[in-house]
Amino acid sequence: MVQAGNGEPLVVVDHVNKHFGALHVLKDICTTVTRGEVVVVIGPSGSGKSTLCRAINRLETIDDGLITIDGTELPKEGAGLAKLRADVGMVFQSFNLFAHKTVLQNVTLGPIKVRGLSKADAETRAMALLERVGVANQAKKMPSQLSGGQQQRVAIARALAMEPKVMLLDEPTSALDPEMINEVLDVMVGLAKDGMTMIVVSHEMGFARKAADRVLFMAEGAIVEEATPEEFFTNPKSDRAKDFLSKIL
Ligand code: ADP
Ligand code: MG
Repeated sequence: MVQAGNGEPLVVVDHVNKHFGALHVLKDICTTVTRGEVVVVIGPSGSGKSTLCRAINRLETIDDGLITIDGTELPKEGAGLAKLRADVGMVFQSFNLFAHKTVLQNVTLGPIKVRGLSKADAETRAMALLERVGVANQAKKMPSQLSGGQQQRVAIARALAMEPKVMLLDEPTSALDPEMINEVLDVMVGLAKDGMTMIVVSHEMGFARKAADRVLFMAEGAIVEEATPEEFFTNPKSDRAKDFLSKIL
């Protein structure tokens, strides 16, 4: 297995299975993401990538197996779940900002409500994060006044504001106009360079090559290949991966 990061397991997915009715959507998934590691998950539509992300954040239950974040098993519900969820920053394809809150409020809400920060502290930190993702000058606006690329960068700042141990980004650039993709990928590359542990579902080869320590290729609910980006993109081993790459390259 490919190892990167500092070798200390942060997210452990151990023999996880999940069905939607008769559909076996996660098939005995095992993988360990170490602290500081960047894992890019790729694979055809419907292969279970989003379900895996959602299971790691407990937005989806699993049938059997075990998922731990920093050594703690995900509880089924309750206060423990809210706390553990706050350790996992999630960014979706569709931004999901609170439409009736300003950009700044989008970033301060979680820290005030879940982390118990004062409004002043939350705002100071939020402004620093908005600066980091390059949208500090938009802080007073409503999300709808921003471009898609700006909104997605706010969504990343909002997730970072909770000081997560790991960031999960599920196709964060798929809903963006082409000219906005790079501004979001650049922020993600910056996070990776700063040592953030990340699981990113993305078919952006440039990002994977630049930032990923490891590529997980999924098909039909299973991890079919696991390799460095260099290895995977230049020398995919399975026919499924070869076929998939021939379609997206
Ligand atoms: P991917 O993100 O790789 O495109 P998903 O994890 O979204 O794949 O979906 C995997 C499979 O599970 C697909 O066949 C999808 O239709 C199915 N699926 C996803 N969510 C649900 C759900 N809530 N109920 C039933 N089937 C679902
Ligand atoms: Mg998906």
